[in-house]
Amino acid sequence: MAYRNIVKKGDDTLRKKCRVVEVFDDKLRDLLNDMTDTMYKANGVGLAGPQIGMLKRIFVMDCGEGLYHVVNPEIIVTSGEQRDVEGCLSVPGTTGYVVRPQVVKLKYQDGYGVSHTKTFRGLEARCVCHEGDHLDGVLFIDKMDEELR
Ligand code: ZN
Repeated sequence: MAYRNIVKKGDDTLRKKCRVVEVFDDKLRDLLNDMTDTMYKANGVGLAGPQIGMLKRIFVMDCGEGLYHVVNPEIIVTSGEQRDVEGCLSVPGTTGYVVRPQVVKLKYQDGYGVSHTKTFRGLEARCVCHEGDHLDGVLFIDKMDEELR
């Protein structure tokens, strides 16, 4: 177990597109575990690869309804709409409103390469979209329609 440094806004890594993961080995699982520890230590609900300087299509998430190690996520379908406050461990000090789908059906692999399909709602759906955006170099501030002051 090791904590990783969280990359902050201004670092180019956060603006790059991540690569698909093809090798599911101990190194990948160690990375996912390190990301999990780092997320919990920072009191976050999600953490994506680029946020620790790794340009891989991976994220970890725990919105209080279970921990997920997500590799190569693909949003299959979304429905509904929710507008709520978001923040990001890579953008400290900024929070604001972002519109997201209410429901997201996600196909992904875990750290062992096993495929899963799961439907997420509410905060989990929001988090899946936020973390998924990180893998394409998109930050929530790009989509924020009102900053909270
Ligand atoms: Zn973020």
